[in-house]
Amino acid sequence: MGNNRIMLNEAVKFHGHLGPYLVLGILAGELAIKKLGCKKHFGLMVKVRGATKKPKSCLVDGLQLSTGATYGKGNIHKLDGRKIKIEFCNSNNNKKFILRFRESLIQRLEETKTHRDSELLAKRLYKTDSHKLFNLTPNT
Ligand SMILES: [Zn+2]
Repeated sequence: MGNNRIMLNEAVKFHGHLGPYLVLGILAGELAIKKLGCKKHFGLMVKVRGATKKPKSCLVDGLQLSTGATYGKGNIHKLDGRKIKIEFCNSNNNKKFILRFRESLIQRLEETKTHRDSELLAKRLYKTDSHKLFNLTPNT
């Protein structure tokens, strides 16, 4: 990862504030690029379910930053859903997977109520190994 990571200050400049869902979008997108071996911007399609309202929808901005898939290019979509579920697809070879939040992560997010706690959690999540946060399944 190293220098290619989206920095938190960059993300805040784009999004306007620091929150856990923004960071989770960054982490999920970075993981997808790596796992699918796809190119940023044009090389993938992203479908996000269950993140239509704030603060969950902040996830979408993190995903746009890290994957380069954007509304302008039409390769990221926000759909209804009861739970957060993100489908990533490599546009060149159709390789896909689905990412869901682990129960432990969902619990931590639910327990975080104040603005200050949200910022702290965001910073902590940024340093956390993605595999401790997300469950990945192939989508066939
Ligand atoms: Zn936000």
